[in-house]
Amino acid sequence: MSDLEKQVSAGWSRMGSMLVREGRPHEIPESGTFVNAPVSRGSTVLFPSLEAMNRTDGRSHAHKVVYGAMGSPIQHQLEEMLSRIEGGTHTQVVGSGLAACALPLLAFLGCGDHLLLPDSVYGPTRRFAGTMLQRMGVTTTYYPPTASHDEVLALMRPETKVLFAESPGSHTFEVQDVPMLAEIAHEAGALLMLDNTWGIGVFQPFTHGVDVSIQALSKYPAGHSDVIMGSVTVNDDACWKTVRDAAIQLGLCAGPDDCWLTLRGLRTMGVRLAHQSRSALEIAQWLKTRPEVARVLHPALEDCPGHEFWKRDFTGACGLFGVELQPGISVETTERMIDGLSLFGIGASWGGYESLVLPTTGHIRRVTGEGGPTSATFRLHIGLEDVEDLKTDLARGLDSLQF
Ligand SMILES: *Cc1c(COP(=O)(O)O)cnc(C)c1O
Repeated sequence: MSDLEKQVSAGWSRMGSMLVREGRPHEIPESGTFVNAPVSRGSTVLFPSLEAMNRTDGRSHAHKVVYGAMGSPIQHQLEEMLSRIEGGTHTQVVGSGLAACALPLLAFLGCGDHLLLPDSVYGPTRRFAGTMLQRMGVTTTYYPPTASHDEVLALMRPETKVLFAESPGSHTFEVQDVPMLAEIAHEAGALLMLDNTWGIGVFQPFTHGVDVSIQALSKYPAGHSDVIMGSVTVNDDACWKTVRDAAIQLGLCAGPDDCWLTLRGLRTMGVRLAHQSRSALEIAQWLKTRPEVARVLHPALEDCPGHEFWKRDFTGACGLFGVELQPGISVETTERMIDGLSLFGIGASWGGYESLVLPTTGHIRRVTGEGGPTSATFRLHIGLEDVEDLKTDLARGLDSLQF
């Protein structure tokens, strides 16, 4: 195995024992028990007396489960597991990845506050800032994801409460200098939030200064394209109180069956990703040798903006990356090529066991202009199919391109 193959997969392999052991019964009763924790579905929680119902044992009411909206046992087991994976202290699971982006923004921002979003941010997060947050009186400024220390600092205002990062960025894959962003945020008394969906488990957000880490669990944790769910993880009690109170106030929780499915998905996440990351690297390196390809936007390759930060801060890569074609290749021919692929499904989302392709040409920088690809681009998600079969399929498609 090459050094690079090791670096893209090491973090996933290392997680294996923890993913198998955590979040399930450790005490085995004499009478025996099933391997997996059961699902309890419930709204009403019964207590033997009013006194027992009202007793808080020193905890705030929001942290005692007196009703199903506060979370079921399986939800809390999943939350503990996610805290371990992210290296934080507390996690709140919610009904989608997008809700996980919206929850901390709603929790920490108010009228008159200022938010900094990277221009590469996941589209629906951008939409949320431009609609609901704007209506609430929150102003948003976009910064280039590869901006220098001084460029970001110049955009900070006295009322900037949240600096948001997404690394690598959706569709354009710039890896961000998260420790630098943390320093800027903290010096200004602001929080650094990170959408860590790409880097789950192989980017430890809190060791790099992040305050709030967000996951779309719909991707690799659930892993089978059958669940929509998200999580918010924090690393201290003060942040936790704010996030948890906001979740209770908004009535956000997640269905126990989805929590169970996600917990099951996590059992195999390490081994799936160890495999998918190596296949993705092999395909990315092979694509670089093709004449039709201008750049491969894979964080482990030097073509990718911010590759040096991936190399410094990540212990692995996932199976999602971008491909930028040569300038002479039209968007129409690229779309025909995508339609003609047989092993790559056409569909939104990623992180399942199957390969996917999606054109991303429309996702160049919208506000800060520079840096994004200008020719036809598409995004590949590499699944568990045989890597040679995937290459044959892609080779047939690329052969059909004329330029
Ligand atoms: C998919 C995704 C989300 C949203 O997750 P959903 O569960 O689909 O709502 C948020 N951020 C990133 C980076 C994503 O890829």
